Amino acid sequence: MPPIAITSTETVRDVNRHRILGLIRARQPISRAELARQTGLQPSTVSLITEQLIGQNWVTEGAAGQASRGRKPRLLYLNVERARILGVDIRPALTTIAIADPNGRVITYERMPTAPQPRVFVRNLCRRLQAFLRAHPRLVCEGIGVTVPGGVDHARRRLVAAPNLGWRDIDLKAPIELATGIPVELENAANACAIAEASFGTHRETKDLVVVTVSEGIGTGIISGGRLVRGASGLAGEFGHVSFDERGPLCSCGRRGCWEVYASNTAALRAYSEAAGRGAATGHAPGITFDQLLTLAEQGDGKAVAALSGVGDYLGRGIAMLATGLAPSLILVVGEVTRAWGIIGPALEKGAAARTSSPLPRIAPAGDGAEARLRGTVALVLRKQFGTAIVA
Ligand SMILES: [Zn+2]
Repeated sequence: MPPIAITSTETVRDVNRHRILGLIRARQPISRAELARQTGLQPSTVSLITEQLIGQNWVTEGAAGQASRGRKPRLLYLNVERARILGVDIRPALTTIAIADPNGRVITYERMPTAPQPRVFVRNLCRRLQAFLRAHPRLVCEGIGVTVPGGVDHARRRLVAAPNLGWRDIDLKAPIELATGIPVELENAANACAIAEASFGTHRETKDLVVVTVSEGIGTGIISGGRLVRGASGLAGEFGHVSFDERGPLCSCGRRGCWEVYASNTAALRAYSEAAGRGAATGHAPGITFDQLLTLAEQGDGKAVAALSGVGDYLGRGIAMLATGLAPSLILVVGEVTRAWGIIGPALEKGAAARTSSPLPRIAPAGDGAEARLRGTVALVLRKQFGTAIVA
């Protein structure tokens, strides 16, 4: 089990609770006596905390275990029957609502259109969440993790700006908490993915990690020396809106030639449409979805492959900067593009290697694109309950 960092807002009791909950998660089923042995805490302290966890539906008692003599101990498990974590991943066209168990496993998810007006969107989302809670009265929802494609002000707990959505200074937390009665954790999507991978994913205990989320735009979540980098403004990591060419195509942020204009799902679709439009008799670019573009590339469509490898090259250009500047041990790419890693990966590596003399770290896709983003939403709630080696 990784050491748990104590942040200024945590008490010793929180830390002990995190340790016990973390041990139950890792070693379940486990007895109270074994928890006391492994944590070095007094049995009475362990009993008190486990009773609280049972009362809060995080933990449940199962079958009796083995004991050499005397009463057989009741074993403890995470309460996968009743405890749920909700995750909400907001993207420009579609928002995904995930339902996960306390182990962080996504059980199911559903999608809803993202209304362009934030007020309408929040009302629709609250209705969906309320309908879910009404339909499952036996479940206990322990938290809602909400991720956004933009900057979050953690002091004011508001979304500062999401250029791809055209939203500025929005309170997402208070209205959802009011409608559901469940605490909401709000975070930038790339930061949430970085927390998920370094705290609960396959890259646990990686202290220097950069996550690049590729979707309608680009986000980066940076973990350096075991800390999530927020910077003085709290908005560190908005590399997607650094301009590569001020005469380039217009970006949603109002500038021209931003990194994400060249290296995103939107960029791949634009490149494909331009190439296909030139070839088509009508001269009109065909409108296809990014999913369809990936399928075309898988079928060997030359224009689709070229569009994706162009995005790979541009991803590499930006990643060369990140790798040189931050020297992480690992860069993870999250997004639907990872489905075409056979095309994206080599173009990205080549694009990056050509632009830096620094050695490149391992650059890898973070599993299934959509799932990786949902793990990010769930990790925001898990972080609060289990603690984490990453200081965020
Ligand atoms: Zn921009």
